[in-house]
Amino acid sequence: MAKQIQAIRGMNDIVPAQSPLWQKLEAVLRASVHAYGYSEIRTPIVESTDLFKRSIGEVTDIVEKEMYTFQDNNGDSLTLRPEGTASTVRAGNEHGLLYNQEQRLWYMGPMFRHERPQKGRYRQFHQFGVEVYGIGSADADAEVLMLSNRLWHKLGIQEHVKLEINTLGDSEERETYRQALIAFLEKHEDVLDEDAKRRMYSNPLRVLDTKNPDIQAILVNAPELMDYLGEESKTHFSHLCELLDAAGIQYIVNPRLVRGLDYYNRTVFEWVTSSLGAQGTVLAGGRYDGLVSQLGGKQSPAVGFAMGMERIILLLQELELAGDVAPAVDVYITAMGTGTQIQAVNIAEDLRESLPSLRVMSHCGGGNFKKQMKRADKSGAQFALVIGETELENNEVAVKDLRGNTEQQLVAKDELAAFLDERI
Ligand code: ATP
Ligand code: MG
Repeated sequence: MAKQIQAIRGMNDIVPAQSPLWQKLEAVLRASVHAYGYSEIRTPIVESTDLFKRSIGEVTDIVEKEMYTFQDNNGDSLTLRPEGTASTVRAGNEHGLLYNQEQRLWYMGPMFRHERPQKGRYRQFHQFGVEVYGIGSADADAEVLMLSNRLWHKLGIQEHVKLEINTLGDSEERETYRQALIAFLEKHEDVLDEDAKRRMYSNPLRVLDTKNPDIQAILVNAPELMDYLGEESKTHFSHLCELLDAAGIQYIVNPRLVRGLDYYNRTVFEWVTSSLGAQGTVLAGGRYDGLVSQLGGKQSPAVGFAMGMERIILLLQELELAGDVAPAVDVYITAMGTGTQIQAVNIAEDLRESLPSLRVMSHCGGGNFKKQMKRADKSGAQFALVIGETELENNEVAVKDLRGNTEQQLVAKDELAAFLDERI
């Protein structure tokens, strides 16, 4: 036998038994953004490498070590998108959607990062995200948080996620803080690992984002950005807190929450769960007022988030909220005897025409009664239709209830749709 080719490590198939849960999640996400008047944007999976370097930042996990970057035949450096915000801004600028306009956008699709695969962390994964452009006030930050909060309620996981928020201030405030943080880190250099030492001068805030428990321990005493904020940033943050309080959304202010991407300013937030081990962040985002102009557009404020869909799927499964997989078929159509097959196919097509939501599967490949009935049963259908020569002569079809105890019965061909509509 020829050797089987395997999928790339960390890139998963979603097999038929899993896709109903994905479809359910996707339907909830679509309904939610619909309810807030957001419009969908779809961007290519491949972009110029520069797009991500310029937006996410050179000294970040993503750009330093996680990107799938390659040269195409022209020698251009291309990258499989590791996240959705940079592409959305690029597209928004390119199509003139952002200048002097408000936009409320959403997207959903695969992202790629070369990380060590483990539960909740993959090399191809899916994000759902929203981005709001042209509104600098905290009510927009509150809106995307309310939207995410509504998602948890719709999915039934609201008791299992917690909101953490923080503010990063503006770039000048961060610069003053940066100096204070570097001074603090210099005093604890013996505890820092290689990553932290390297980032200490180039991007010290990133050290706050460390997953190293020894460094986390010393950071408890690190200076806090909150103490370096000016009036405007403080007001923005306290207004957001007021709006969340008014909406009844509970949150924790976590002064060490900085996020792993460079483009954020002011508000940053994460929804976390304790039910998924180390990969507990299910949704993360914040404000990024500088990115639109940084990528060549006219300045426009922006706020958004991205949700990790695999982590939500895992959470739903963990909490046993995934539900049973429903069969994909309502009616299975079999044909017995010579010349019945074309008629059977016509009956199937007529049913699909008159009952658009009915799921009808036609038997293919012939075989005797027993074989066809076995297939009918395996399909999960509730009813099997038996199209035989005698029945057809009488303009009838035999209907067999595969799940109940009712006897097989004959139904007139032109009453078939009404008969099934009543029972399914
Ligand atoms: P982490 O700290 O877990 O690495 P991150 O800060 O890199 O996350 P973001 O870039 O903000 O994550 O992405 C938003 C969300 O996308 C995350 O909160 C997570 O739910 C999901 N996500 C990120 N990377 C992966 C991955 N490799 N596999 C699965 N989901 C991911
Ligand atoms: Mg990461």
